Amino acid sequence: MTTTSPAAPAPVLVLVPGATGAPTDGGAPFHLADATVPQLSITDLVATRGDGVFETIGAFDGVPVNVGPHLARLARSAAQIELPAPDQTVLAEAVDAAITAHPPVAELSVRVMLTRGIEGTGIPTCWIHARVSDDWTPYRAGMRVAVLDRGLSTTVTETSPWLLPGAKTLSYAVNMAAVREAKRRGAADVLFRASDGYVLEGPTSTVLVRRGDEFLTTPVSAGVLPGTSVKSLFTWLEQEGMTVRDELMTVADVTGSDGAWLLSSTRLAAPITHLDQVELPVDPELTARFEAVLKGKA
Ligand code: PLP
Repeated sequence: MTTTSPAAPAPVLVLVPGATGAPTDGGAPFHLADATVPQLSITDLVATRGDGVFETIGAFDGVPVNVGPHLARLARSAAQIELPAPDQTVLAEAVDAAITAHPPVAELSVRVMLTRGIEGTGIPTCWIHARVSDDWTPYRAGMRVAVLDRGLSTTVTETSPWLLPGAKTLSYAVNMAAVREAKRRGAADVLFRASDGYVLEGPTSTVLVRRGDEFLTTPVSAGVLPGTSVKSLFTWLEQEGMTVRDELMTVADVTGSDGAWLLSSTRLAAPITHLDQVELPVDPELTARFEAVLKGKA
């Protein structure tokens, strides 16, 4: 369902050796690099252990959305895996440099990657990769979602913080495997359910549920990633006079709701048409307004 047009401009790569205050050769904290040749060492701990954290920022007509919140979350994830705090100013400038270097396009996906670095050096590796976003149009029209067991309880943050609940780590193999399982079941995406029965989030998205004039999401304390998209939508919904709340919800709460979406920074608001076999109401007009808010254009 996701394809990048063959005519899409080449991706842009910005290497950021100064992201965590590490010494840099020429003094510049970042520089453009060739995205078409290998740049990462095979002994980088992200290659050997998946040991790193990342962010994906959406840029719409050349304007990135929620850069500050994304970089703050990168710092939070870095702290969870005991990586030094990245320099937010350097990274924000490097994000801008990547977008400026890319030919103008409607939707750009800007990944900020921070790894534990080459084994033995203790110096993190950091880069930014900007590329044309996948075509998310079919997902934004509505998608079938499968409920999959995450195998962890909503108390994981307290009981087992070493499992890194709510950290955006570069070990996304499990998340991608879940999406493949959803596809085997005839769905496009996943809503994870905790072992104590509450819904969590998608493998790359936050759940938003409507109940009348109330909009609900899973509390971060349940071990989900604090979503930047849901935060933007909550601010806008409150301005519109709606109530927003974090609440633990069961699958039945979602199937009995007045609508549900999976939210993320580049795919934006994807309405759930069916959760497993149960059909949900879809509101294309409200979804379009969510899309404008999430593109920073409301
Ligand atoms: N939850 C997970 C596990 C994610 O990977 C993502 C984004 O990739 C989200 C939620 C949504 O976060 P955001 O809205 O900040 O893109």
